[in-house]
Amino acid sequence: MSVDMDESDWRRHLGRRWSAQFGGTPFGFAVGDGWDHLLAEVFRRVDAALEDDERADFAWSDIKEKWGALRMTHYGGDRIEDIVDWAEAASKRICDRCGWSGRLRSEGGQWRVRCDACDGL
Ligand SMILES: [Zn+2]
Repeated sequence: MSVDMDESDWRRHLGRRWSAQFGGTPFGFAVGDGWDHLLAEVFRRVDAALEDDERADFAWSDIKEKWGALRMTHYGGDRIEDIVDWAEAASKRICDRCGWSGRLRSEGGQWRVRCDACDGL
């Protein structure tokens, strides 16, 4: 999957909006466009969950798609891990292309969450 990181890219917007969660230097995360609302919700929930004294130490270490599902690793604690668990489970039901409800499908050995309309695209 190619991820277009032009200035209007939603990933770049989210990275800027929540740059504190990236140690001030957001990285581009290679996930499909259909997960834009999911990622926005994750960052919002993490922001709400972090205590003030945890904020400076928290950062994402990786955000990617693996075996069709969202994978997020971080330097936070159990409350953040609960959010990540929720997000990774939710990603398996959200088409990573358009954001509609989908399911994990395998195509040519490649796993993707796709809705019926996007299946095979
Ligand atoms: Zn779709």
